[in-house]
Amino acid sequence: MMKEIKTVDDFNFKNQTALIRVDFNVPVIISNQSYKIVDHTRILKSIPTIQKILSEKGKIVIISHFGRPKGIPSKTYSLKFLTDYLSQQLKITVHFFEDCIGETVIEKVNELKNGEIILLENLRFYKEEETEDENFAFELSKLGNIYVNDAFGVVHRCHTSITILPKFFGKKKCIGFLMKKEIQYLDQFLCGKGKRPITVILGGAKIDSKIGIIENIIDFSDYILIGGGMSYPFIKIKGGIIGDSIIEKNKRIEKTLKKIFHKYQNIMNIIHLPKDVIIADSFKNEANTKIVSIDSIPNGWMGLDIGPYSIKNFCRIIKKSKTILWNGPVGVFEFPNFSLGTKSIAKAIANATEKGAFSIIGGGDSIASLKMENCEKKISYLSTGGGAMLDSLKNKILPGIKAIME
Ligand code: AMP
Repeated sequence: MMKEIKTVDDFNFKNQTALIRVDFNVPVIISNQSYKIVDHTRILKSIPTIQKILSEKGKIVIISHFGRPKGIPSKTYSLKFLTDYLSQQLKITVHFFEDCIGETVIEKVNELKNGEIILLENLRFYKEEETEDENFAFELSKLGNIYVNDAFGVVHRCHTSITILPKFFGKKKCIGFLMKKEIQYLDQFLCGKGKRPITVILGGAKIDSKIGIIENIIDFSDYILIGGGMSYPFIKIKGGIIGDSIIEKNKRIEKTLKKIFHKYQNIMNIIHLPKDVIIADSFKNEANTKIVSIDSIPNGWMGLDIGPYSIKNFCRIIKKSKTILWNGPVGVFEFPNFSLGTKSIAKAIANATEKGAFSIIGGGDSIASLKMENCEKKISYLSTGGGAMLDSLKNKILPGIKAIME
C-alpha cells in the first residue's frame, strides 16, 4: 500500500506552510493545574516529521485533539500545556494560539516566518470535528497549503480533520514519518509472509472490535492465543460455564463465532484458549480467589486472569514464534493480583524478540504492561494506535489513509 501514498519525503517545504494533523492525545496526570505527561511516545514519534519540515525552512501549523471535551472549550482540555515540552524537544519556541479556526488564527499563521511553528487549540473544542463537517474543514484548510497526516491514533475515525480536511488540498497532501512506519510494519505483518510460526495474541474486553480480526488472520496464522475477556464468548459457545465473567451480549459476536467454527473444522488447532483461570468473587484486587478450569466457573465468580497452566502454555508458544502480534491484556492487569498473566505474556514476547522474532504490539494496556516489566524497548514495533491497528487487521483501508490517496 505504501507505494500509493505520498509521504513528507515527496515534498520540499521551503516557503510552504504545512498543516500537520497529529495525535497529541497523550495520557496525563493533572494536579494543581499542572500537567505531568505519563507517556510521551506519541509526541516523540511525530518529532521527525516536524524536524524534516523545519529543516527545509517550512512553516508549521499543528492541529490535534486532546481528550473528549465534546465541543465545549475548557482549560482542562487545552493543549497549551504541551508548548513547553515541544519547545524543549525541538529546541525552538513553539507558539500557541487558543483557537484553531477564525480570522485571528489566520493572522497568527500569516505572521509565522520560515522555520517557525505554532500549535493550535484542541480541535474537539468544536463539535464539528467529530461530525465530518465541510465548513469546519474549509476553515481549517485556510491554515496551510500542504496537509500532513501523522495522527495514526485517530486515522480509523471519520473525523473532519482526518477525512474531510485533506479534500481541500488537491494533490498537496501526504502522511508523516510516524504514519509511514505504522503502515509499513502492519503491512509487513498482514502480508502473511513473516517468518513462521506466526502468532497473534488477542485479549482485552472490547470483544466486538476484535472478533472480526480472526477471520482475516486465520489463514496465515499458526497460533491465535485468546485471553482476557475475549475468551469467554468462545468458552460459552463451546458449552462451558463462565459464571459472572465478562461477556458482551451481542448477536453479531455469536454469529461471527458460529461462522468461524463452521468454516474452519480444525480451528481449535490454531485458536488456543486458556485452560485454567484465576477467578474472583468480586471485581476488586482484594477479592477472594481460586484457580479453576475456564469452562466451570461457578455463579458469583468471574475469571480475571489466566491461570498458571495457561501462562506456561501461552509462553511456550510465544517462545517458539518468529512473528508475533499482540493487542489486549489477558486479564484485569490493572489489579496487581490479576496482572501476572499479562506481564508474563509481555516478558515472553520481549524475550522472543531478543532471540530474533519480529514483534508488533498495540493498545495502551498491552504497552503499559510492557512498561511495568521494563521491556518495551525490546519490542520490534510499538504501535501508537490500538484501535487503528485493530481496524487495519480487519483488512480495512483506514478512512484517513483513503483520504490521502484520493
Ligand atoms: P481492550 O480495550 O479491549 O484491550 O480491553 C482492555 C481492558 O480489558 C482492560 O482494562 C482489562 O482490565 C480488561 N480485561 C481483560 N481481561 C478481563 C477479564 N477477564 N474480565 C474483565 N475485564 C478484563
